[in-house]
This record gives sequence, structure tokens and C-alpha cells, in this order.
Amino acid sequence: MKTPAYDVAIIGNAALGLSTAYQLNKADKNLKIGVIGPADRPFSATTTAGAMINVWAEIGYDHFGFPALSDKVELGLRAFDMWDPLCAELSEFSEKPLKVVWGTYVVNNARSSGLETKTLDYIVKVMQSGKIPHKDFITDPIPWFNPQYGSQATRIVHMPDGRIDARLVLAAYDRALAAKGVVPIRSRAVKVDLDITQAQTQGKGSAKITLASGEAVEAKHVVFANGSFAQELIDQIPAIRMHTPRLLWGAGAAVDLTFPEWIQKGGGLDKRIFDMDQVLRTVDRGGSCGVHMVPQGGGAYYLGASSGVWFDPEWAPRLHGIHFLLHAAMQEINPAFFYANMTIRGPGFRPTTADCFPLLGESHIKGVWFANGTKRDGFTCSPFLATELALGILGKRHRLPYRFRPSRPLLSYKNKALAVEDSLNAAMGGEYQHGLSLPAYALEPYQASKRAKIQEIYDKRKLNDFGIHPEITHIYENDDTFAAIDLPREM
Ligand SMILES: Cc1cc2nc3c(=O)[nH]c(=O)nc-3n(C[C@H](O)[C@H](O)[C@H](O)COP(=O)(O)OP(=O)(O)OC[C@H]3O[C@@H](n4cnc5c(N)ncnc54)[C@H](O)[C@@H]3O)c2cc1C
Repeated sequence: MKTPAYDVAIIGNAALGLSTAYQLNKADKNLKIGVIGPADRPFSATTTAGAMINVWAEIGYDHFGFPALSDKVELGLRAFDMWDPLCAELSEFSEKPLKVVWGTYVVNNARSSGLETKTLDYIVKVMQSGKIPHKDFITDPIPWFNPQYGSQATRIVHMPDGRIDARLVLAAYDRALAAKGVVPIRSRAVKVDLDITQAQTQGKGSAKITLASGEAVEAKHVVFANGSFAQELIDQIPAIRMHTPRLLWGAGAAVDLTFPEWIQKGGGLDKRIFDMDQVLRTVDRGGSCGVHMVPQGGGAYYLGASSGVWFDPEWAPRLHGIHFLLHAAMQEINPAFFYANMTIRGPGFRPTTADCFPLLGESHIKGVWFANGTKRDGFTCSPFLATELALGILGKRHRLPYRFRPSRPLLSYKNKALAVEDSLNAAMGGEYQHGLSLPAYALEPYQASKRAKIQEIYDKRKLNDFGIHPEITHIYENDDTFAAIDLPREM
């Protein structure tokens, strides 16, 4: 049987894979593009996501003070204005018109850590200096927002971030690509063989991709857009593995909520909950993307999301990850959720690298591309990343930051001193969310012992000029996981 040949084979068929195929086809209708991935997309981050188009609420404290963090924010900023025109284009292929519902309430409350308070203050200052419309208030109550004793809001900022149903977007991409003759290859890639000699000596790539179905495809360019799962393929290619920050599993699960018929008719604890029209969320808390309630319309809600970065995947959510969400919905948002019916969504795996920065563009081996490592905001950034990646693959100038090239050293999170403090704050934020309560006299020694433990990890790994991203400090602590992710670090 003849092996089909493509100009570009994209491994992965969710936000990054499909958007890249779509933009490539838009840029050059004659390209032969193959998109590989199973129809049901098991454990996909995209289908588990809220999916907030979140740029402003995701800015972390002092992120514009550090080039790598600042470049990461810029990816979202550049994608932000692309969403309305993209939705207009894709609506033709959607069962209902695609539209981002803009507007998000970001809340600090009595359960927020000091870092969260500082972060929201920072976000507001950034929006003020960029003249971004927002509203900063606490006195003007939101009718459907009713936090309970101990979780009262201390600040609410309404900002331009939005939301859309990611599953509808994927379905529209699927239909659009089919209409344009880009046929999906409904299988999983199990092996990628690269003709490295040809790539290096003749400057052109060549890859053979073996599928779970037993068939194979060949392509001039191959794109790893299959999230954390790409690592299984990269592990088989030492030439890539040794130069690319490892992909970890950013596990996240969420809860879909609806209300039983009798509440829809008669109302339960607080009927105003049916008027909720925009996202309400906390800022990032304890290394996770905050608690967010994303209204879906028709009395349905998405409650997200748990977050933990693991070296190996866990195929079911953890009890504590769901427990804190359910508690937060009733305690921090509205007790009306007491009567909600729930199903668990996920886990999905946020593609998270060993420095938590993305892998974007061509690797040091010609023809091998990455659209990966987007972690918590890859859906938001996807229109920009896909457009730029398509330009790169077509040999044109693109605006993907060089520092996020796939073959690179590990990038520092801020600097060591600040990373240690942020790790401590993230740990405290997480523990408060899980119910930590300390008598006043015990707080300082508790924090001191946690800080010392983090410091010990830095000492053990002899890290003096490098900051570990707070969400992966535990990966550095364990000898085996550290050995597996250890690459040269940027100086
Ligand atoms: C709980 C949760 C909430 C999130 N919330 C948001 C949010 O509100 N806003 C936002 O912007 N981002 C959010 N994210 C992050 C966002 O979902 C990701 O950054 C982005 O969707 C990643 O897309 P992807 O296409 O790279 O990966 P994925 O969505 O994981 O897709 C990978 C695809 O590759 C396929 N695949 C896997 N292995 C193979 C193989 N061997 N061969 C072929 N195909 C394969 C899979 O089936 C899947 O379809 C969230 C993530 C999670 C988990």
C-alpha cells in the first residue's frame, strides 16, 4: 500500500492542531495538510476548558517586569482582538453562530492570599496605564453574586475577558476543514521517524508518522500539536528530546452544573442565579487558575478548575480537586448551587513544560514544529499562535517569540528570590483554599518552615541564578523527576 504524502502533518486535533490547519489552509489553499487525532479527543485540554478568553485576569504579579513572562502575556494580548473576526468566519460552519460573550468579573475575597490582592492591584494598574476599559468596585452589588460569611468580596473588577464554548469552536473548525478538503486522519500517531540527515544537509524536513491503525503517513513538515501526549513521541526521538523542555501533565478537571426542573420552575435558594450572564472568577490562586463560574446559558454553568502538574498522567480527577470547587461554588459565589446537579468534566491535561513556558515554532531540526506547552491559556492564544506558525511553516516571517523556540534552555521564572516567595505564596493560597486555618501565633513559623523547605530544594539542585516556576517546585524536589527534566538552564 502506498504511504500518503503531505506537505504538513499535524499531530493533534484540538485547539492548536485545528487552528494551525485552518490558518495554513487559509494562507495556501494548495497545501496538502493531514490532521491526525482521534474523533473523541480523550483527555484533551481544550474540551475540558471553560473556555475563558482570558488575558487580563491571567496576568500575574509583576509579569511585565520579566521578559519571558511578559512575552507570554503578549501572546494572549495579540490573540484577543482576533476572536471576533474568527468567530464571524467560523460561524458559517457552526450549528449556531459563534460569539464570544465579553466581560468578566474578577474577585478578591476574604479567602484570598496577600499575593492575590497584590495581583489584582497590579492587573488594574496595567489596565489603567493601557487605557483598557474596566470597572473597579465593591459597593455596587452584582445581583446574582452572593458570597457567604467568611468569603465576602473585598474587591471586584470588571474587565474585558470573555468566554465561548470550546467544543463548538472545535466542531466549527472540523466542518470548515472538511469543507476545504482537509481530511482528518482519525487515528493516533504512535511513532515519528525523522529523516534527520536530509533535514540537516538539504535543509528540508521529512517525517514518517506511524499510526495506531498500523498505517503510516509521510510529510515534509510535522507539527507536534497533541499537547502533553507529544512527549510519548518525543521520547522516541533522542535528537529532539535532549534539546526540548519536557512536557508534563497539567491535570485539570471541572464540574458542569445544571438545576433540576423544580428549581428552574419555582426557584430554590436564590432565583437570581439564573440571571448570571458573565464569568465570575478569582485571580490565579495557589497555583491554579482560580475558581471560575462560567455561565453557559439556559441554566447551565461550568465550574472550574482543579490544577496540578504531574510527571505522569492520572486518568481520574482527585477528590480534593473537586471538593474545593464544590465548596467554593456554594461559599464564594452563591449558595443557590447547593441544589445544582453535577457531572465531572475531565481530567484534561494542560500541556505544561518543564519551565511552564510554551514551545512554539520550528525546532533545531528542520521541518519539525511545535504548537505546544500552552498550559493554561492556549485556547485564548490559539488564533495568534496558529496564524504565526502557519507563516513560519510557509517560510515567511513570523512573530512567535524566539525565546519560546522548542529547542532551548529552560527559562527562569522571575529570579530565585522572587520565585521562592511566589512558591511560598502559591502553597499558602492552595492550603487556604483547602481549609487551612492557623492561630495567629503559628502563621509565621509555619511559613518559615515552608520557605526553608523550598530553599532546600534550591540548595539540593544548586540553583543560584534561576527561579523555578511555583507550580513545578515538587518536580525539582524528587530525584527521578528532576533527572528527567534537567536540561541546561538560561543564564
Ligand atoms: C481544566 C482546564 C481549564 C482550562 N481553561 C482554559 C481557559 O479558560 N482558557 C484558555 O485559554 N485555556 C484554558 N485551558 C488551557 C487550554 O485548554 C490549553 O492550553 C489548550 O486547549 C491546549 O490545546 P492543545 O490543542 O494543545 O491540546 P489538547 O486540547 O490537549 O489537544 C490535544 C489533541 O491531541 C490529540 N492527541 C493526543 N495524542 C495524540 C496522538 N498520539 N496522535 C494524534 N493525536 C493525539 C488529543 O486527542 C487531542 O485532541 C484549560 C485547560 C484545562 C485542562
